[in-house]
Amino acid sequence: MRYVGIDVGGTAIKAGLLDETGSLLESSKTPTPADSLDDLVETLLQCVEEVRSRTSISGIGIGIPGLRSARTRTIETSPHIPCLAGVNLEDLIQQKTRMPVITENDANAGAYGEWACGAARGLQHMAYITLGTGLGCGLVMSGKMFRGASGYAGELGHTVIEAGGRQCACGSRGCLETRVSATGIVETARERGMPESLTAKSVHREATLGNQTARAVFEETGRLLGIACSNLINLLNLQMIVVGGGVMASGDLLLEPARQEAAKRAFPPSARDCPIVQSQLWPDSGIVGAAMLARDSS
Ligand SMILES: [Zn+2]
Repeated sequence: MRYVGIDVGGTAIKAGLLDETGSLLESSKTPTPADSLDDLVETLLQCVEEVRSRTSISGIGIGIPGLRSARTRTIETSPHIPCLAGVNLEDLIQQKTRMPVITENDANAGAYGEWACGAARGLQHMAYITLGTGLGCGLVMSGKMFRGASGYAGELGHTVIEAGGRQCACGSRGCLETRVSATGIVETARERGMPESLTAKSVHREATLGNQTARAVFEETGRLLGIACSNLINLLNLQMIVVGGGVMASGDLLLEPARQEAAKRAFPPSARDCPIVQSQLWPDSGIVGAAMLARDSS
């Protein structure tokens, strides 16, 4: 049995063909037409048909950035791809392909991928945190994707760490993702007097070259990530926190202060039970998870 896993991002759509064990057999990448639903659906159909012209598939899983209602299977909001709001993408793609289709929040799909085939394989309780432009999170509890009442659980990025903190894209203030994300890193670097033109990648490069300000930016970001991890650990008594996403190219520069801070703040027995590790599947966690959700929901 083979499955197509698709990860719809704000700028690129990644698609992969996977076997039933979650091995990625091939993958492709194409720009996201974020302004037109027709163009987006057409691009998704092309991804599927391109694979299906060569091999038979049993289902399609699609990770999308936004809130997907578990009750109606409609995408309620998608700030980076506004044309998806109010759309039941599952039904649309299903009607056109006559295949079983499942959609899921992209961070949830990433969590499911790491749980089914990656760093957290075989565990019962885990969280996946993905650090990109924003901060995404998905939870697997008692060996199942944890969706909450309506499908919107896991929005760790919008838990508040500073009451009067930075303005967040969600409309609130002081959300974790205003500090722990690529955007947050750049903002912190600016606040500390680094040049306006920096990106998270270039702050990282500066840090590896020994720039003390850049190192301090990563320290501080890592410590805040650690506070968020300690909250998750105390709240949920997890077996593992897996961290992925583009920002994790910085690896231990971020994870080491995070581990230290989490160990300091969480109850020691809970902290001992919960290693904080780097993703095994990144950058493919999302497509692997989407395909495995398609496998397990059919
Ligand atoms: Zn927010």
